[in-house]
Order: sequence, then structure tokens, then C-alpha cells
Amino acid sequence: MESATHPEATNEAPETAIDGEGRFAAAGSFDVHRPVDGSVIRTVAIDSEAQVAETVARARAAQPAWEAIGFDGRRRWMEELRDWILDNQDRLDSMMQEETGKVRADATLEAFYCLDAINYWVDQGPKLLADEIVTPHVPLLRAKRSKIVYRPFGVVGLISPWNFPVVLSVGDALPALVAGNAVVIKPSELTPLTVIELARAWREEIGAPEVLRVVNGGAETAGALIDGVDYLQFTGSERTGRIVMKRAAETLTPVSLELGGKDPMIVTRDADLDRAVNATAWGGLVNSGQVCIGIERVYVEEPVYDEFVDKLRAKVKTLRQGADGDTYTAEIGAMTSPPQVEIVSEQVEDARASGARVLIGGKRGDGPGDWYEPTVIADVDQSMKVMREETFGPVIPVMKVADVEQAIEFANDTRYGLGSSVFAGDPAEGERIARRIEAGHCNVNDVLVNYNVLGLPMGGWKSSGIGVRHGAQGIRRFCRTEALTVPRLPQAKSEPIWFPYSARKRGAVRRLYRFLSARGIRNRLGI
Ligand code: NAD
Repeated sequence: MESATHPEATNEAPETAIDGEGRFAAAGSFDVHRPVDGSVIRTVAIDSEAQVAETVARARAAQPAWEAIGFDGRRRWMEELRDWILDNQDRLDSMMQEETGKVRADATLEAFYCLDAINYWVDQGPKLLADEIVTPHVPLLRAKRSKIVYRPFGVVGLISPWNFPVVLSVGDALPALVAGNAVVIKPSELTPLTVIELARAWREEIGAPEVLRVVNGGAETAGALIDGVDYLQFTGSERTGRIVMKRAAETLTPVSLELGGKDPMIVTRDADLDRAVNATAWGGLVNSGQVCIGIERVYVEEPVYDEFVDKLRAKVKTLRQGADGDTYTAEIGAMTSPPQVEIVSEQVEDARASGARVLIGGKRGDGPGDWYEPTVIADVDQSMKVMREETFGPVIPVMKVADVEQAIEFANDTRYGLGSSVFAGDPAEGERIARRIEAGHCNVNDVLVNYNVLGLPMGGWKSSGIGVRHGAQGIRRFCRTEALTVPRLPQAKSEPIWFPYSARKRGAVRRLYRFLSARGIRNRLGI
């Protein structure tokens, strides 16, 4: 690994407190820091419970007109947002970089995702939410036109984390908005600035209806949001996810939870090792390893283990860590959350103390800010924390396994089930292995790529979550379903099963049901 270049800490005075709605703060404020040096960027006002309720009420008031303009009307505003992002992309990338500590290449991923996702949802939304005709299984009921209608919940709340602040908030707002909902986002208090800027642009520069709003703060603000909305999507840690679900239970508010993971990769003896190594380095270290679906543990078959580990160490040695501004001259940035650096350090020390070999990295970076060196650890075992707990940092533990069977067993030996990867010489063999892994997705001979296939559902099994984003389910979750039956033919004044009851009428109905339900002519006729 090349030596890190860290900027000098700045003592720039924070600007006046801002908030998502441009109103005066009533519940205090918090500072947003630059992870690269710890200096303060801005101070953000905290929304009190009353302010959250007011913001939700404003969103609720704006929603019916938003729903009423239909898909075509909403498409226009979404496309204006897309064009605004295109015109402001460099500025957004810089803001994103400043508050997260990402390298430039990683910061650009956020706008790329939103641009692609806007086009996907405005094109696919009308098809995915079109009325669905259902043919009744009972022929007699075919006199009705039966259909499923998708109707927006009303106000959707989004609580989001700091690792991809825009993808995991505005990115999830897109299908909710296309479906006709208003959205209120509570971004992470570590990284709210780019989201605030996007919501400001929606309101002030694009002049769109007031259906995309932001509230700021921590647990209290988030709790008030859960209390007020009609549907809540949470992305964050497993621990907070449980708290969110409990809180939502009080108002019977439906939730989807996108939580943590401990994603395994399996490398078989006949895999293309160079591709597997390059994929492991990127999949494990992109965004400084702070990716929910990043590679968190690698199982390599014994015959190729030593070669894999040597190649991975050599690859990681070439990576440059630092603050690269807009020059694209570093691969690994800072870490965004100071407590996360502690968790990473502790897991690496635990592995070292238990006999694992730290091949490269394994310590914090020098200077101010939140830095941890890209790290490869060999000879780990399944009991170590670094193989059991979510690491969420630039650390790749690699473990030797006897064969594929053992690899699958270890891969599934976790309370998580978010994602996974398999590298095998034959993709068909890779798919056979993938089908046995207990996780929401598996990429064969690739990493993370499923996230860009927006037609595929993305969500976790077990403690990694409930519900999915993307694909048909990813937009339908923001809708209530209404089942409609509408007559196709002129109707009688009454139906045989309505009042009044009589033995003669009920006998005829019974004979009819027998005829329809039984199999075999004698049985149908009861003879
Ligand atoms: P976190 O759970 O600490 O915080 C997430 C959000 O919840 C923040 O906005 C925070 O302010 C809010 N929050 C905090 N306390 C709350 C409470 N009591 N009630 C309601 N909301 C509360 O998570 P984080 O540290 O910001 O993010 C990292 C975690 O997110 C990792 O576990 C990662 O795996 C997970 N994640 C999951 C996905 C996914 O799609 N599955 C994507 C990205 C990140």
C-alpha cells in the first residue's frame, strides 16, 4: 500500500446552522465533520418532534395533488431532477466527498446510481404499478372483472445511514415518489449535507411540488418520523432496525428494513484467480469497506489458498489511500464514522491475538481524521470476531477450506444473509453453489453487480432485513393493494347465497359446490 496523504486539519468556522426546510432550529444542533481531518463543515439544526410532525403534515397535504397528476405528470418532475443532478454533478460529488471522506471515484457512484434509477423507475413504474387483471379460478365468478390496484401509502418515511448517503435515501425516495407518495427523509446525522442540498434544489431550483422533504437529527427525530408516516423504510444497523420495528409496531406502521451483513465469498480451486483477487480487493475495500453488500469474509479451497493470498496481498499493496480531491488519484478514502474505526481496530486485534496473520495494513492511518489502512488477514478461523461480526471497514479476512462443501457450510454459518459471491471455473458450477447459499443475492464470478440490475430484488434474509428494494417488489412495497371486483354483465336483483335462506336454495348451492369441487363425474354428481 502506498503511504497515505492527509490534508492539514482546517479550523474553518462553521456556517450558521441550516436545516432541511430552511427553518429556525428549535431542538438544538449538531456539527457535521470532514472525516479526512475531523474539522467541522457545517452545523445542522435538529428537528424537534413538533417540527417533524409539521413537516410530515406538509408532505401529507401535498401528496394528493402529486398522486393526481399521474405517472406522466410525475415523470416530468423526476426528469427535471435527473437533469439538475447532471448539471450539478461535480459540485454534488465534492459535497459528498467532504462529508463522507470517500475518494472521488467512490463519491461519483452516488450520482451515477440516481441518474440510472430515475430513468429506470419512470420507465418501469407505470408498468409495475399498472392494474393487474385476475381471472377468478371459479368460472361462475368470471362474470366479474377482478383486478389488483396499486395505490400509494401517502407519506413514506426514509431513515438512512452514512455509507451511501444519497443512494440509500434519495435513491429509495425515487420509487416511492414515482408511485405517488410524498417522502420525508431523515438522513444520518454524520452525512446529511448532500441530501439537504438535493431536497433544497427540488424545492427551490426545480420548483417541484413539496413532496420531497428532509428532517434532521438522531434517534428522537427518527422516532417522531416513524410515528407520523404511513410507511417506513429503514436502512442501517441490525441493532437500530430492531428498535425501529418496535416503534413502528406501536402505530402498526408497515416497515421494510435493510440491515447489516457479513457477506461471504467462495473461491473454488479452478476459479480464475486473478479475476477473483481483483474482485475481492474491490468488493472488500471499495468505499473503505463501508458497503453493506461488501465482501466481508473469503473462503478459498485449499489447493489455491496460498496463491490467492499472495496475489491478494500484492494487489492491496498497490492501492493508494488518501484524500484525492477531484484527481482520482486514490482508491481508498477515510472512514466516515469514528466509532466504526474502533470496531474495525478491535476486530483486527482480536484476530491477531487469536493467531491470524495480518499480511498488510492492520492499523489506523497517521495524522488527524478517521483512517484505517486497507488490510488483509490470512489464517483466520470461523470463531474470530472478524468472521462473525459485521466489520464495515477496509478489512479482508481469508480462510482456507478443505472443499466446496465446507465453504458452503461456513458461508451459511451466520445470523446474517444479505449477499454473497462465488468464483468458480465453470459458471454452471458457480450457480449450483449459489443456489445453496442462504442470502438475498449471490453474484457468480462477480461482486456487488446485482445492485445495478434494478429489476432484481435486493434485500436480506435472516437478521439482514425484511422486504426488498428494486424490482417489482421494490416499488410495490410503497403501495397499498386494493382488490376490485366490477360487474361485466347485467345483474339480477339478488344472488342465490344472499338472504333469505331456505333448504331448497341452499341445497341447490351445495349441489353446485359439489359439482365444482369434486373430481370424477360420479363424485361430482354424488351418485
Ligand atoms: P445506524 O443504525 O446507526 O443508523 C442508521 C439511521 O438510523 C441513522 O439515520 C440514525 O440516525 C438512525 N437512528 C439511530 N438511532 C435510532 C433510533 N433509536 N430509532 C430510529 N432511528 C435511529 O446505522 P449506520 O451506522 O448509519 O449505518 C451502518 C449500518 O447500515 C451497517 O450495519 C450496514 O450494514 C447497514 N446498511 C445496510 C444496507 C442495506 O441495504 N442492507 C445498506 C447500507 C448500510
